Amino acid sequence: MQKIRGLHARIVLTFLTLLLQTQLITSGYAADGITILYDAFGSKSEMQKDWGFSALIEYQGKRILFDTGDNADIFAHNIKAQGVDLTKLDFVVISHRHGDHIGGIPYLLHVNPSVKIFAPKENFGIFGSTLPSNFYRRDETLPLDRRYFDGKPPDMMTFGNAWNKNFELVEKTTEIAPGLYLISLVSSNPGTLELHELSLAIKTPHGLVIVVGCSHPGIEKILEAASTIDPHIHLIVGGMHLVVTPDDEIQRISMALRNTWKVDYIAPGHCTGEPAFEALAKVFGDRYIYAGLGQYLTFEPENSAKKGEPRLAILRPQEKQAYKYFVANERFE
Ligand SMILES: [Zn+2]
Ligand SMILES: [Zn+2]
Repeated sequence: MQKIRGLHARIVLTFLTLLLQTQLITSGYAADGITILYDAFGSKSEMQKDWGFSALIEYQGKRILFDTGDNADIFAHNIKAQGVDLTKLDFVVISHRHGDHIGGIPYLLHVNPSVKIFAPKENFGIFGSTLPSNFYRRDETLPLDRRYFDGKPPDMMTFGNAWNKNFELVEKTTEIAPGLYLISLVSSNPGTLELHELSLAIKTPHGLVIVVGCSHPGIEKILEAASTIDPHIHLIVGGMHLVVTPDDEIQRISMALRNTWKVDYIAPGHCTGEPAFEALAKVFGDRYIYAGLGQYLTFEPENSAKKGEPRLAILRPQEKQAYKYFVANERFE
């Protein structure tokens, strides 16, 4: 009798779950959000922590990989642990040339050799480049065997890249797909002078979601550029490079993000730094979203951190559904 009731309940639940799924599909609901695939903090034991950054963005049916972490083996491990299918990507964005963002590229290309990859344009950089050949000064008086290309260079010169792959190089802010923008900036900060970095700005009905790799040009410079697309910043996710910044400057930036730039939600990760995690949590309160390794954040405000809600319990709609299903089954058996 117990068994029959259990079976009956299971059939009813399966039917309800299927009905729910059909409704989700027919209502056109898309779970727009971001999953953290590589970082050095988090609470999910199946994921391997390491210094670096990578995230998967799902937006209006598109799947975008942002950066690839530091180590190809750890990247591969985390991709598998999270069940991410790298063969199903619309494109990849590599924020900048630092090792902790590009280390997983060999694994990515092994799994998906033809995927389109956007990278910052830097002259003679590791992503390759092209330059008009008139960049070098000529000396017509030299004998031809001492002149470059016997005195007849091609109009454009192409310089190779580290992966024998044609990257799509971006050097100014560009809309690469409807609602998706790459913000291109150059760092003028000591240690990363002239480093080009791309940040991703995503248009949502609630304002822009900004995904940052390291923010080497400065998070405020990135927001300044983003505000020309939409001045309303809904959410910032990723590294803000405040790891070695003194407390008073961390405090100034935290306050500026909240009061000047009116950022709704902040989900700091990677090189934002431990003291900055603390300062931003104090300044943003309930609008600070935990973004550890393996975490999924939706772009919907109602699913972001709410007062009194545990910040770790942010689940995708599908996960919530599965969770409810298991809980229900548990009760009936
Ligand atoms: Zn960096
Ligand atoms: Zn980094």
